[in-house]
Amino acid sequence: MKPDLDQFKFRDEKKAQKIVKEIDRSELDIKLMHVCGTHQDTLVKHGLEPMLEKVGVEIIQGPGCPVCVTTQREIEEMIRLAEDGKTIAVFGDMINVPGVDKTLSEIRSEGADVEIVYSVDDAVKLAEDREEEIVFISVGFETTVPSTANVIVEEPPQNFSILSCNRVIPPALEAILEMGEVDLDGLIEPGHVSTIIGTKPYEPLSEEYSIPQVVAGFEPLDLLMAVLMLLRQVERGKSEVENEYGRVVKEEGNKKALEMIDEVFDPKDVEWRGFPEIPKSGLELRKKYQYYSARKRFSDSLEELKDREFEEPEGCLCGEVLRGVIDSKECDLFGEECTPSNPVGPCMVSREGACNIEYRYTSG
Ligand code: SF4
Repeated sequence: MKPDLDQFKFRDEKKAQKIVKEIDRSELDIKLMHVCGTHQDTLVKHGLEPMLEKVGVEIIQGPGCPVCVTTQREIEEMIRLAEDGKTIAVFGDMINVPGVDKTLSEIRSEGADVEIVYSVDDAVKLAEDREEEIVFISVGFETTVPSTANVIVEEPPQNFSILSCNRVIPPALEAILEMGEVDLDGLIEPGHVSTIIGTKPYEPLSEEYSIPQVVAGFEPLDLLMAVLMLLRQVERGKSEVENEYGRVVKEEGNKKALEMIDEVFDPKDVEWRGFPEIPKSGLELRKKYQYYSARKRFSDSLEELKDREFEEPEGCLCGEVLRGVIDSKECDLFGEECTPSNPVGPCMVSREGACNIEYRYTSG
């Protein structure tokens, strides 16, 4: 395999300084939001945050970590199914997210069957090799949904089902703008998600909320360029959707992947951690594929959870972090009671969570 040398083109220090100098020419101070753990990782790992702050640019992370926005209700559904004897196939980050009393990892040490998988295909393989019920915890945004949809279309074994905790990004952005808790001058849109959905779904947001948007890649120069493009829009009084990540993201997205999502999933109103129910922001299996819905197949086990109210872990401000209202370090528990080895909330568990990223690069 050839080494990926391309990335270094987008880490060139001289070019970075040139862009920052260009940003510095502006008299304006701006506040931007991104919704992507990888963007946050780049910002913190490469020291872009302080560099941009010096030239009047503040960037905050919104609800861009799929594990973090998964609700307590969904965590409890996973735990309930595991306690009822189903095998839970789950991505690694999720097993340490605290539920009401326990994590999936803790119930696994008590004897529940919780298997870490790296893809939905691994979960299907488990179902092929075993006779018991395998429930795949399907967590992720538009980026990962097509592979789950593809598996469902190909009719996996009868003992396979999914617990959909999938969500889509544009409705969450609209919720942020509609709630108006943070005064934003622009949005940096996620490259991975946009590879699937393209740039068009963002257009109504710019029209309705007069907000400039730029789709950005993940290297330092991608983010700096996105900032400069947004700044120029603000200076010129524009609110458009621009694409900095044109080497990967196309206006129309990935048509095949979009058709696959549409074939298998129905949009559904769902809560996000820290948010009230957001219209059409979740995905549930269409009627045709309901056989593979764990919520339907094991509705008796999950019935009791339906009307229960769930509270956030005591003292945890993940909701506020995910809405961009506070910075991770403003949570009193950050780095004290809450660390990656002893997380209180999901934002400290996931490597895409704002608290985890902040801790890893600045406090660890
Ligand atoms: S530092 Fe911990 S307790 Fe505070 S918001 Fe982050 S995850 Fe929640």
